[in-house]
Amino acid sequence: QAKGEGRNTIRFFDPDMQAAITNRITLEADLRSGLKQNDFLVYYQPQIVKDGKLLGAEALLRWQHPSRGLVSPTEFIPLAEDTGLILPLSEFVLMTACNQLVAWAQHPETAELNLSVNISARQFHHRDFVDQVLGTLAKSGANPENLTLELTESLLVEDMESVISKMTTLKSRGISFSLDDFGTGYSSLSYLKRLPLDILKIDQSFIRDLLTDPSDEAIVRTVISLGQSLELAVIAEGVETGETREALINIGCHVYQGYLFSHPLPIEEFNKFIRKMQTETIT
Ligand code: C2E
Ligand code: CA
Ligand code: CA
Ligand code: CA
Repeated sequence: QAKGEGRNTIRFFDPDMQAAITNRITLEADLRSGLKQNDFLVYYQPQIVKDGKLLGAEALLRWQHPSRGLVSPTEFIPLAEDTGLILPLSEFVLMTACNQLVAWAQHPETAELNLSVNISARQFHHRDFVDQVLGTLAKSGANPENLTLELTESLLVEDMESVISKMTTLKSRGISFSLDDFGTGYSSLSYLKRLPLDILKIDQSFIRDLLTDPSDEAIVRTVISLGQSLELAVIAEGVETGETREALINIGCHVYQGYLFSHPLPIEEFNKFIRKMQTETIT
């Protein structure tokens, strides 16, 4: 403590904090105008089965900011959650994904493709969540059998009864559920048994060093056998190399997502990716 700086001294100006607040206010204003100007888009990252078959994609939100370029969702999703702007944003992602499913349903080669959509805590716990999802499906005409909703562990531990009831209603219409970032959250395994889940997604933090870190390998093996005993499919995220894919095949994980196959792509690129995969399987 500097001399003369009493215990009750209040610092009126902290440049770092000031900058952070200004940044937050600017970002919130930008989010609002971005929504008005349709500056958001959905990218698609392929999910691939061991035999090379394309299962579908995860829909990932992107913000085409007028001056900052493409902004990552990790930079704006937390603020969107705090401000409630996540609700219109999620509405947009879900509607875009459902419309894409309808477009794919027109062609036999793409009719079976599945889309996974990330659901935020605030969105899921909103009292209109079930109606929002069912309403969007009905409005678009998308087949609920081709839609998966990705939930995170932290969202599920809160108010279990309501969580189970919402999931059960949506599942009865054909929607699937996957547990995202598995292993990074609360890790109370008892809830896994109670929740009507279909898929576990092993977090990419366990996949990254799979080849070199024995504890990561042990965790991945455990998640896979857990999935087998609970009859859940297991998807590995963040698969970046062929060696990692080989290791996953040996451990018994059969569905992958990651840069090895493709980065998330705008829809035109993703449709090209589909066509390329189809010609590769045929020839
Ligand atoms: P997530 O749901 O865990 O999504 C996977 C993230 O990992 C994506 O980042 C993806 O681009 C990235 N990724 C995919 N393959 C690889 C790989 O091989 N290596 C590495 N290092 N990374 C890989 P992205 O698109 O920046 O999204 C970040 C997070 O933002 C997502 O994590 C998700 O939590 C959130 N998010 C994205 N879109 C939405 C959305 O529409 N709604 C909500 N609520 N959250 C979203
Ligand atoms: Ca996800
Ligand atoms: Ca994830
Ligand atoms: Ca993640």
